[in-house]
Amino acid sequence: MLLAKDQWGNLVLASEYQYQTRRKLYCPGCSQKVIFKCGIEKIPHFAHCKNQDCQHFSEGETKEHLEGKQLLKKLLPADTQVEAYLPSLAQRPDLLWRNLAIEFQCSPLSRQRFTARTQNYLEHNYHPWWIVGQRFFPNKICSQLAKGCLQDSPVGPVLWGLDVGKGEILFFHSFDWHYQFGMSYEVKKGNAPLFDELFWLTQKVKTPASDWVWWQYQRILQMKLFRKEQSILQLQGLGYCHYINLLDLPQWCYGPSCHQFLLQEKILLLRGLFLKVRNFEGWFSLVLQIMDWPYLLVDQKQVLNDVFTECQRLYKRNQSRGTRKF
Ligand SMILES: [Zn+2]
Repeated sequence: MLLAKDQWGNLVLASEYQYQTRRKLYCPGCSQKVIFKCGIEKIPHFAHCKNQDCQHFSEGETKEHLEGKQLLKKLLPADTQVEAYLPSLAQRPDLLWRNLAIEFQCSPLSRQRFTARTQNYLEHNYHPWWIVGQRFFPNKICSQLAKGCLQDSPVGPVLWGLDVGKGEILFFHSFDWHYQFGMSYEVKKGNAPLFDELFWLTQKVKTPASDWVWWQYQRILQMKLFRKEQSILQLQGLGYCHYINLLDLPQWCYGPSCHQFLLQEKILLLRGLFLKVRNFEGWFSLVLQIMDWPYLLVDQKQVLNDVFTECQRLYKRNQSRGTRKF
């Protein structure tokens, strides 16, 4: 932790602490004694003595986490607080700026704990801003944790990261998914125009994938099923419960979608279900029963609403094409 309190309750920042004064210091969470640590490897911080049980601060805070918090403190507005305790939530975000609760996550966190923390913030009108550390930067895949940290934006989901080594904020955007090449995204680095980028992005018009060939996609699916790939088998299993065969859908179902990144192959099942249930409420409740939603900060109903409208549009276009033939 970067903050401790003295015997009178005054908060002391580790970077400003003078060891020579040998003041006794305590954890602001559990009030147990803490010790000052500073070395060549680690930046100045406070830590509990061994074997102390504290629910407010996890021990063994990594160098990345400590440095990240300090770096963010420098980058964010001057009135940003480090490790501010929120009594009504019994939660302590890494940093707090107005109602923005900033969490720098660089070590694994269980899905239950992540969900509980996020929901607790939202219920109390704090907006959680999850920033991921190096190990959660998207690569070929997006980890479960990174999915949860994706934020909604006018141009689709975006993800923030912090590269402590380089002292840089990373802004991942334009996420997409292709049946052949998998996930793709763009990344913007640098700290100066931290929020300007968001404005620029809203001006950007997304062009649909031009290298998307419906029958090629169908063939790749066939191969994945043949190889018994777990995620596809599971999806096909769900499909069978509703008499849907993923390999035997109308052609329009294999086209790209506006939410291809978030839903990937699941789009096929959603489109298959649309062919069974043509009204939004019925379709939506069916989808909720079978679909897992790891994107806590992305509005599920809005996304599904877009997907449904897209289904209607594609279906209609396909119908009119069909009638023109005769
Ligand atoms: Zn403590």
